[in-house]
Amino acid sequence: MLLEHLNSKLRAIAAQDLTRFLREAETPTAPHQRVRGADGVARELLMFCSNDYLGLAAHPRVAEALAEGARLYGGGSGASPLVSGHSVAHARVSQTLADWFAPHIPRARSLGFCTGYMANLGVITALGDADTEIFSEALNHASLIDGTRLARAQVTRYGHGDVEQLRALLAQSRAKVKLIVTDAVFSMDGDIAPLPQLLALADEFDAWLVVDDAHGFGVLGEQGRGSLEHFGLRSERLILIGTLGKAAGLAGAFVVAHETITEYLLQAARNFIFSTASPAAVEHALLTSLELIASETGRARRRHLVALQARLEAGIGALLARHPALPWRLAPSQTPVRPLIIGGNAEVMELAARLEREGLRVPGIRPPTVAKGEARLRITLCATHTEADVERLLAALDAAATDMERAAA
Ligand SMILES: *Cc1c(COP(=O)(O)O)cnc(C)c1O
Repeated sequence: MLLEHLNSKLRAIAAQDLTRFLREAETPTAPHQRVRGADGVARELLMFCSNDYLGLAAHPRVAEALAEGARLYGGGSGASPLVSGHSVAHARVSQTLADWFAPHIPRARSLGFCTGYMANLGVITALGDADTEIFSEALNHASLIDGTRLARAQVTRYGHGDVEQLRALLAQSRAKVKLIVTDAVFSMDGDIAPLPQLLALADEFDAWLVVDDAHGFGVLGEQGRGSLEHFGLRSERLILIGTLGKAAGLAGAFVVAHETITEYLLQAARNFIFSTASPAAVEHALLTSLELIASETGRARRRHLVALQARLEAGIGALLARHPALPWRLAPSQTPVRPLIIGGNAEVMELAARLEREGLRVPGIRPPTVAKGEARLRITLCATHTEADVERLLAALDAAATDMERAAA
């Protein structure tokens, strides 16, 4: 009965062109990677899909630090942080991050989580008690949405970037505690939330601003500290969540907030308390990765990334002008996340499959991850891409556009 039930649901997923499948990478995370497809055949692919924005995942110093960490601390941490899983390496990562954000959040303290998903779930469920109203941005990441579903708080959604709607909702609220929750950089769109305006509303209505900077940390700001540095924000009302599996190239996440908030999370966030701490070796390697983010290497990589973004944007602009009959459009992004909106699910998957046959991996993103009719290629750039890599993508997209236009005519 269960199997029949699931098979019928799987068929429904397939009928909507929504079936997902796993590929297997055989080489390190990098723009040029050997990947085994669903057909079992391994191919050399030019990847425009990882969130390893600074190319640190396979950086020799990061890999060496991980190996050194394993020699120093062994494999797993053995227990949850409050039992015996917390190490000096964990503490040093937290201290480094607290110091980094001290200019932005007074009395900042940092608390580590195993993944960004866990950090988001932990923060939203721990802070979102029955006295709280959560104001949740429409395009928030699934992990924030899942947090609001598990929380006991009242949840009110506001439109994407709609500061005026949020103001009206805050003005109506009678809740004792108000939390505004938003992605800093929207993961499927690449645009940046209007954080200064949101913070001004938090001040005006005595609310707190939870910022998920998964895609800004390491990438935005002169020193790579992310969207708070990008906007030059400073407030006790900021609760920052950052992830360490994207630009930092490893794994994990952190929350930086006023020390009372992080102390409460340590006492109350169930997935902090009841889950095995990350391996100390990973934390040891994170120290090297954080050092690289802050160093001249990090700055140079961020500059190169900005140059690649400009090249891609100009190239796609020219391509769209050459193919006016196609409904494609480039999302207005200021980050290395550069979605090309195609429209239908079948169209985007056909395009992604064609690119893959030509040796380029650019994932198609479909509903429910994005709105219906807005299926897209989610192009992400990394500092380890070259100009030639971007030119190759542009040429492949142009050839596909020519064929699709011809087929439609
Ligand atoms: C990736 C992502 C997360 C989850 O982080 P993980 O460390 O991958 O679990 C959370 N929020 C946003 C916006 C993300 O893009």
